Amino acid sequence: MILPILKYPHQVLRARTEPVVFPLSPEIKKLAKDMADTVRHADGIGLAAPQVGKSVKLVIINLEKSGIPLFALYNPKVVSKGFKKTEIEEGCLSIPGVFGMVKRPNKVTIEAQNHLGEKIKISDDGWVSRVAQHEIDHINGVLIIDLIKKYTKGEELILSDR
Ligand SMILES: [Zn+2]
Repeated sequence: MILPILKYPHQVLRARTEPVVFPLSPEIKKLAKDMADTVRHADGIGLAAPQVGKSVKLVIINLEKSGIPLFALYNPKVVSKGFKKTEIEEGCLSIPGVFGMVKRPNKVTIEAQNHLGEKIKISDDGWVSRVAQHEIDHINGVLIIDLIKKYTKGEELILSDR
């Protein structure tokens, strides 16, 4: 089921999120499936639960077009960051038409849980790193407009969760 994507300045985008508990409830299982449908439908590369009105720590990464199967991260957090940072243009499904340069660490290590509640650890310095950082920001109430130093027109868009 495709869910409506909430737009800034909707309060839920800034709300505190609750951890997902295991075993997953039928509601959370359905939410994860619906978020996968929604991000694919929106042609996005990532989606966080607050963007569909749910204040829980769940994000979907959709890099299918880069050959990486869609996956969900439950209770993800960045546990370490590389020193080197790069500025890349980003956009956001919740802030249509707004684009800007966002500086983030190239490499991060993320700890999360999979759908079974098993601990997973991801170290990445590519698209997974970039998208996961954007989506983890969402579950912490942080939006790209908090991070953009220079706005752009989206004409040379390299990265967007849309
Ligand atoms: Zn976003």
